[in-house]
Amino acid sequence: MHLIKMIKNIARAFVVKTRSIVQSTWMSYPKKVRCNICNWEGRRFLSDSWHNHINCPKCRSGIRQRLFFAALHHTENLSFDKIIHRKNILHFAPEKIVGSGIRNKAAHYATADFFRPDCDFKVDVSNMPEIKNESYDIVIAFDVLEHVPDYQKALQEVHRVLTPNGLGIFTVPQKDNLLVTYEDPTIITPKDRLEHFGHWDHRRIFGDDFCQTLERKGFSVTAVDETIFSEDMKRRHVLLPPTLSKHPLATNFRKVFFCQKNL
Ligand SMILES: [Zn+2]
Repeated sequence: MHLIKMIKNIARAFVVKTRSIVQSTWMSYPKKVRCNICNWEGRRFLSDSWHNHINCPKCRSGIRQRLFFAALHHTENLSFDKIIHRKNILHFAPEKIVGSGIRNKAAHYATADFFRPDCDFKVDVSNMPEIKNESYDIVIAFDVLEHVPDYQKALQEVHRVLTPNGLGIFTVPQKDNLLVTYEDPTIITPKDRLEHFGHWDHRRIFGDDFCQTLERKGFSVTAVDETIFSEDMKRRHVLLPPTLSKHPLATNFRKVFFCQKNL
């Protein structure tokens, strides 16, 4: 009996291993897409509940992170040298893959989050007296502002802690073709937030007016989307979902907002 059980276990392990090798080989060839952050290459990226084939299977980057690195690598005004090199950087809700791509080039790199214990600062982005005025050249917050009760106050705080001409770099979920940001403080249950804003933990869904809000808060805004890159780059690094989502709250067209603090 013992021998039979052992043979069964070996057979099961063999099947699992073989299946994993077949899947991994199938995903790796042909090399149609390449992550511009971790350099994984393969047939296609992984799907999530909103979009097919948009997340890197190795580093889990999404379109917003790859758009950011595409700008650093392929634009003149927003290049690594101009934005990251020797700068003091504060990174909210830090994604490991973004941090490891910029940390070594910065003069100083610090992380912040309201909940996570693994960050340098445990602060609320909309009220952070711990951070001095004009103390960072760059503040990065990707998909943070939709979680914050008062995002306009958060923008004021980021503006305060930036050095003159410093740069806030933001991404937010923006529903396609929504002109005005939709928020309602009476919508508080996870179920209602999911239904109205697309996620149980979101307090709003942004519209096209986000750019004007940034300008009103004292920033000059450059919005980077996939349209500034070549067709080949767009397709290869998946800077636009290969298939647009039909979900009524979907963000199909991602933008990275580079916001220079006005003097
Ligand atoms: Zn990757």
